[in-house]
Amino acid sequence: MTAPLLKAGVMGWPIEHSLSPKLHFYWLQKYNIQGSYLPIAVAPEQLGVVLKTLYLQGYSGVNLTVPHKEAALQIVDHVDHNALRIGAVNTVVVREDGTLEGRNTDAYGFTQNLLSAGYKSNGKPAVILGAGGAARAAIVALLDMGVASIRILNRTLDKAEVLVEEFGSELSVHALNDKAALKDVSLLVNATSLGLKGQPPLVIDLQHLPKDALVTDMVYAPLMTDLLKQAEARGNKIVDGLGMLLHQARPAFEAFFGVDPDVTPELRRYVLGDA
Ligand code: NAP
Repeated sequence: MTAPLLKAGVMGWPIEHSLSPKLHFYWLQKYNIQGSYLPIAVAPEQLGVVLKTLYLQGYSGVNLTVPHKEAALQIVDHVDHNALRIGAVNTVVVREDGTLEGRNTDAYGFTQNLLSAGYKSNGKPAVILGAGGAARAAIVALLDMGVASIRILNRTLDKAEVLVEEFGSELSVHALNDKAALKDVSLLVNATSLGLKGQPPLVIDLQHLPKDALVTDMVYAPLMTDLLKQAEARGNKIVDGLGMLLHQARPAFEAFFGVDPDVTPELRRYVLGDA
């Protein structure tokens, strides 16, 4: 008897831009798994209905992208610890009894990407630019890594204040252009959408950033953002945002298809269209 086809996918609105189908397809081929992973366009008002049919349609689960991550929290039957802390679901797993479990693997992906670049905080603070969903994942990751203090720099200070109330006194709030907040840090993270193709550029003065601080940008389109170019030119070590995307997909692939896949240079080249 042949094994049943394992089905998964990614839901968004729109969904054409997503790199996830290409990434999961690579792993399905590599590990010789009888499975499918499809892009699924789902309008926001349809999300609840569509998620509730996953079990009947034989899906192992789905990933969620913009604009569904927050809304799914209210739809799934179970929410794991990280999804609760981040306030968003990026992976829905269909349990054997048909109920839906919401998980969030963004903090895991962020951590693995930093570790791949050899990041150690050495007791020094980290700076996060931004206070949205991506920043929340970075906060959870850095707190779990034991980073002693996190400076949040954001355009809208009220949104950053909410994060301090939620996550605690390890966090402090600063204006987005507060260049002195970059002093003595071990890490600078761009978790805003500035610098993303089609968005305004990220303009930042790095003069106070220590030369041994690691710089990472969650934006990966373009891959080499102006921030990363600027940081590299002054001698800082950098790590791009594609690694986070690749690593956050690993626990989802394992949940859907039963194999913990590797993130390799060949996978990066393939996803970027260079292989
Ligand atoms: P979000 O929740 O909408 O938050 C956007 C953030 O960007 C907020 O802090 C917002 O500041 C700031 N921002 C937007 N436009 C701005 C402007 N013109 N001037 C100053 N600040 C501005 O978005 P998100 O989900 O956190 O995503 C942020 C970025 O991370 C996106 O580019 C996304 O693609 C990327 N991302 C990458 C990965 C990965 O795997 N690499 C994973 C998740 C997200 P205000 O609070 O003032 O509005």
